[in-house]
Amino acid sequence: MIVSLKHDADPERVAAELAARGLWVAEALRAESGRPSHYVLAPFSRAVDPTELSHIEGVAGVAAPRSPHPLVSKQSACVDLAGVAIGAGAAPALMCGPCSVESEEQVRALAERLSQAGVAFLRGGAFKPRTSPYAFQGHGDEALAWLRRAADAFGMRVVTEALGEAHVAAVADHADLVQIGSRNMHNYALLRAVGKTGKPVLLKRGMAATLDEWLLSGEYLLQSGARAVVFCERGIRSFDASTRNLLDLGAVALLAHVHRQPVVVDPSHATGRRDLIEPLARAALAAGAAGLMIETHADPGRALSDGPQAVPVDDLVPMLRRLSPLPGAS
Ligand code: PEP
Ligand code: MN
Repeated sequence: MIVSLKHDADPERVAAELAARGLWVAEALRAESGRPSHYVLAPFSRAVDPTELSHIEGVAGVAAPRSPHPLVSKQSACVDLAGVAIGAGAAPALMCGPCSVESEEQVRALAERLSQAGVAFLRGGAFKPRTSPYAFQGHGDEALAWLRRAADAFGMRVVTEALGEAHVAAVADHADLVQIGSRNMHNYALLRAVGKTGKPVLLKRGMAATLDEWLLSGEYLLQSGARAVVFCERGIRSFDASTRNLLDLGAVALLAHVHRQPVVVDPSHATGRRDLIEPLARAALAAGAAGLMIETHADPGRALSDGPQAVPVDDLVPMLRRLSPLPGAS
């Protein structure tokens, strides 16, 4: 972006105004008099609306390259999801529940405990993307109804995954927030189908996706009609198997502070280990995460999927208290 200065501008003052908005001057082009006439902003400066800059005293104009994802760039840093604000300025939102919805009784009992703990979103997979075709694949449509009833009974919202185009309508009918899983971040036909429902979407990062690819998948969703997109960092593939994935907190800080997007973090799939959820949840919030998705189970040893990373519901409340100021922490 290039900011041009008026002849009578105070260049230092303009630079200070830019810095106050997280914008770094990479180079000053000078007039014959030696006074700065244009400031070239560094590409890693915070994403900002050029019209906001054109109102700074002393600024004559702003030339900005078109964003490759204009709808994402225009999206507010804080979005409303079925009455819950997620993003800059809002309290961190919590999304908890089992990896897979296992029974109606299971999600109902969990919803009761989670709602008491201040958790706004009940998560749970009805359609499960499993690496092995022999692993539990989820209870499908039945599980959607169980989730909805459990959430409604305790004033919660539902977030659940649309695994394929065939399930989009049913998922959109039952969920407040439709999840696109990591394995589907590049599935553009699915992104379009989910976008067309108009529902807000939780877009997980593909496990080998660059930030640009992730943002462009968000653009697909908004361009096809999604009301809002919340990005979810859930760890990327690395060479080291000590943790299930590698939690990329740099990406979280970039999305939150530079691109000004609502971004939540899923430390469960990022680490695969329940003992690391709390420290990484704390780190995620410090990096700018607007919320956390934490897999929770009443009895993780008996979970049908992802038991080793599930936090026992009895441990969740004290954990949230230690993570103060989260909603369940008081
Ligand atoms: C999930 O959240 O249920 C899930 C399968 O996560 P991911 O797509 O990040 O692997
Ligand atoms: Mn899981």
